[in-house]
Amino acid sequence: MNVTDIQCPPAKNYIAGSFQGANGRSMEVINPADGSVISTVPLSGKEVLDEAVEAATKAFPAWSALTLKERTQVFYKFRQLLEENMQELSDLVSLENGKTFGEAQAEVLKGIELSEFACSLPTLVNDEIQEVSKGVECRTSHVPIGVVASIAPFNFPFMVPLWTIPNALALGNCMILKPSELVPLSAQRIAELLKEAGLPDGVFNIVNGDRDIVEAICDHPGIEAVSFVGSTKVAKIVYKRATANLKRCLALGGAKNHLIVLEDANPEISAANIAASMSGCAGQRCMAASAMVGVGKIDHIVQQICEESKKIVPGKNLGSVISAAAKERIERYITEAEAAGARVLVDGRNTTVPGKEGGYYVGPTVIDNVTPDMAIAKEEVFGPVLAIMRTDDVDEAIRIENSSNYGNASSVFTESGGMANYVMERVSAGMVGVNIGVPVPREPFSFGGWNESRFGVGDITGKSSIAFWTKLKKRTTKWEAKAWKDWAS
Ligand code: NAD
Repeated sequence: MNVTDIQCPPAKNYIAGSFQGANGRSMEVINPADGSVISTVPLSGKEVLDEAVEAATKAFPAWSALTLKERTQVFYKFRQLLEENMQELSDLVSLENGKTFGEAQAEVLKGIELSEFACSLPTLVNDEIQEVSKGVECRTSHVPIGVVASIAPFNFPFMVPLWTIPNALALGNCMILKPSELVPLSAQRIAELLKEAGLPDGVFNIVNGDRDIVEAICDHPGIEAVSFVGSTKVAKIVYKRATANLKRCLALGGAKNHLIVLEDANPEISAANIAASMSGCAGQRCMAASAMVGVGKIDHIVQQICEESKKIVPGKNLGSVISAAAKERIERYITEAEAAGARVLVDGRNTTVPGKEGGYYVGPTVIDNVTPDMAIAKEEVFGPVLAIMRTDDVDEAIRIENSSNYGNASSVFTESGGMANYVMERVSAGMVGVNIGVPVPREPFSFGGWNESRFGVGDITGKSSIAFWTKLKKRTTKWEAKAWKDWAS
């Protein structure tokens, strides 16, 4: 393994406001941009989780007893700290994940937006009150659930944890975060900044680890709810195991996002959006364009996508993928598609970046003449690869999209409002767009896919997350001096 001059302190577990070193298994943290070892991360056992749950359980009564307005004060300050530390946080995200500095900065900005949303919760959590019978009043209140867990993937080490932390905590819960063991460092700074922002000890805890700790979270009797973001394979495992243990669970899985390109689409806008969507964060976004279905005569658009893709240079405006195994998997998909008859128009295989020969780079790749039965058309590749299928019939394009097991996002490219609506109404995805490569709903709108891209009810961010992080108490009161009597008395 290479060793560079960049070394970070070992990642630690964070329990009851203190960082604790590993006293069991651990593994190296690699900078995927050059293959160097930058830190280590503990692979904790169940006993560490027990400690974290105990700390969170102890912190819960006082934290949940505060008003929502009081709790959100922490996130005003946290938001300000994120702004003040933007450069350092972006450097850290880029270092551990391999994405470019610009992409890392966009991720931190998104974290700021998520914290802002939490600050707006007091105006959004509207409890209802109504006189339902003479002298009898019903009132709902959103009550925190208790100790909750959040399990995160590698591709957004900063943003995905912040999908859950501000809302879950502001709504009165105490949390155990399990970051991806591949990118544990950004979460360390999140813990430090939350403490600096005034969060009481024990409200937020980190337990690092791998599969063992995820299973322990799903089984732990002290944890009431589990949120998960990662691959569909693991989302299914977590959803089944957590709900079998009678926990509330929301598990977001992988994606295979289809872009449907009609022949009247604006070539410049479409090509720029599609190339950026396919290659942004090295294609390691659950919202990335992965499969494109061109309808009719679209050769000129495909040509322009190739030209745009060639402007994307590994090591400059394209980061690395996460690991050697990821690079190998992505290149295998390309090679197998080519062997099955697809045409590789832009080839990102065997890419190296001078000075970073140990890094895991795949260049932007555009493959034409893909057929819907090929693995590259159906499976999540999670790299900067666009698989292009062709048809002359928009309904056939919609059928191809509908046949996917996933359902995170889908976009249509056209100048016709009618056709855009026609496609949007028929695609089977939770987040749909027109003439946009990455149709991510910004706050206060919520984020979440359909089908095998999400298990559970509701979305993970925005207003929709309020229902996940709270339970409703319904109070009925009768304060009436005079004794009314009717059927509801
Ligand atoms: P992953 O499923 O491999 O890992 C996610 C988490 O699960 C990690 O914390 C990991 O430690 C843990 N884990 C891994 N294998 C496990 C197992 N067998 N049992 C229990 N826990 C296990 O995902 P990843 O590779 O880190 O992230 C990439 C995936 O996440 C892609 O599929 C991507 O589409 C998906 N993702 C989805 C969304 C979304 O919003 N739907 C957002 C981001 C990423």
